[in-house]
Amino acid sequence: MKLKIAIQKSGRLHDDSIKLLKECGIDINNGVNKLKTEAANFPLEVFFLRDDDIPQYIEDGVADIGIVGENVVLEKQKQVNIVQKLGFGKCRLSMAVEKSVDYTSVKDLQNKRIATSYPVIVEEFLQQHGIKAEIHEISGSVEIAPGIGLADAICDLVSSGSTLFMNGLKEVETVLKSEAVLAACHNLQPEQQLLLDKLLFRIQAVRKAKN
Ligand code: ATP
Ligand code: ZN
Repeated sequence: MKLKIAIQKSGRLHDDSIKLLKECGIDINNGVNKLKTEAANFPLEVFFLRDDDIPQYIEDGVADIGIVGENVVLEKQKQVNIVQKLGFGKCRLSMAVEKSVDYTSVKDLQNKRIATSYPVIVEEFLQQHGIKAEIHEISGSVEIAPGIGLADAICDLVSSGSTLFMNGLKEVETVLKSEAVLAACHNLQPEQQLLLDKLLFRIQAVRKAKN
């Protein structure tokens, strides 16, 4: 029996996910363009996937566990357990408007058009604040939406803020703070649960050593 873990194929979480497994003493050879690989010294099978697909794979039990941004877990609304925060991939999901716009509070979003790749999280944020706005879901390059007249505001992932700045935008609300997490399937087999516990023990030791 092996524990099946899904990690991002390429992108911001890929390297740190591999690094974490290495630090846990798990050797995996991640040849380019591979869809999956096996660890040499731990009963672990690694699937390389798009981050957006990882919650679904875990919910379905195709993967037992996965490393993915909390932002993706919340947006996808899949039934998975967040078992451990991992301390990398830190970012925030923020509202931004054009620099020239007078913005004082979330009320200024009333009846505005907001472009985002995170419609579920944004809708919940607006509801919590009693704001009605039009959400335009777009999948990439959200930051150009105000400049081309598609939206009055955007809600997008930010780490340093330089992308916003370069596009003449300013950050006005933090909607969510996020980092990479280890997520697990709700109904793991006992054997998989034991392997997960073993892995978690190692991850926690690695995390402690860093603090
Ligand atoms: P994929 O091809 O797997 O769908 P992607 O383009 O959707 O990749 P990335 O840009 O690689 O995703 O981001 C993956 C995750 O990294 C995000 O969901 C988020 O949790 C985290 N992250 C950390 N900092 C940032 C940032 N500045 N911008 C975007 N994502 C960030
Ligand atoms: Zn993605």
